[in-house]
Amino acid sequence: MKTPVLYIVIPCYNEEAVLPVTSGLFLKKLKSLIAAGKIADESRVLFVNDGSKDRTWEIIRGLADSDEHFEGASLSRNRGHQNALLGGLMTAKNRADVTISIDCDGQDDINAMDAMIDEYLAGCDIVYGVRSKRETDTWFKRTTAEGFYHMMRILGAETVFNHADYRLLSRRALEGLAQFKEVNLFLRGLVPLVGYRSSSVYYERAERMAGESHYPLKKMLAFAFDGITSLSVKPIRLITGLGFFISLISFLGIIWVLLTKLFGVTVSGWASMVCVVFFMGGVQLLCLGVIGEYVGKIYNETKARPRFIISETTFDKDKENR
Ligand code: UDP
Ligand code: MG
Repeated sequence: MKTPVLYIVIPCYNEEAVLPVTSGLFLKKLKSLIAAGKIADESRVLFVNDGSKDRTWEIIRGLADSDEHFEGASLSRNRGHQNALLGGLMTAKNRADVTISIDCDGQDDINAMDAMIDEYLAGCDIVYGVRSKRETDTWFKRTTAEGFYHMMRILGAETVFNHADYRLLSRRALEGLAQFKEVNLFLRGLVPLVGYRSSSVYYERAERMAGESHYPLKKMLAFAFDGITSLSVKPIRLITGLGFFISLISFLGIIWVLLTKLFGVTVSGWASMVCVVFFMGGVQLLCLGVIGEYVGKIYNETKARPRFIISETTFDKDKENR
């Protein structure tokens, strides 16, 4: 087997504070892997600028000028982490034998890459980076994040526990991923569906080296909800179950009402009436909301808009074949 070409794919959005710190670390890691003979010299660190509003793209361009191992691609506007990452991976697909995706904030331990490459060389197409500990995260972030993985599982979305978007994908796995055309992207749910041999590498998650997280609680909840409704129809089944359950209770309630009426112990039931009306109204709205979420997804999927548009690169885009 010839030495593989590795692309490290890194989405960046408004990261001018952290890029100058972490870019050097990525390059050092890449060069040490090259020196160890594990990957070919044509390997690259590919930054994807996700329509940043600060100096991120200028920094990336500067890096690309400073060392040939750095490359950059810029999306035409901000499309979100998942789309930016997919854009990077699809750009790397034709140029690399294997890719590793990682965030640019230094939270994920780059030293896990050695083990990832070893797993790849041993025949794995997908290697998940899994956080063994979350001690540096706040109690709140840790509990909400772990609750999220549990909820995903309960609601039928298959994901790898405590794995985010730090993972190795072979070219074959990328070609598989490219066949998933969905617009509602939730990569960590799609990758397990690609199949092939996979394994996990464990690492400890550190704190962000600089800058601020783009995932406050509100966005995290939206992301979780998106993940579940993109990957599973269980919520709709639950609604059906709930409907049955409430119908059953109503049926028993009707019998009870008729019996009390028959035996003449009727009381003015204003309170119970109002409670039932409120309850039913609430349940119906909730159910409509969940169904609406799926309808919205169908709407977006049928439009099949492009998931990312690359406007600029630091390399010749038309010369895709190495
Ligand atoms: N990111 C992106 N587009 C966005 C938001 C975030 O490309 O719209 C990138 C960001 O630059 C970082 C990664 O996604 O490399 C993860 O974001 P962040 O570190 O803020 O999330 P957290 O680690 O706090 O969950
Ligand atoms: Mg981060």
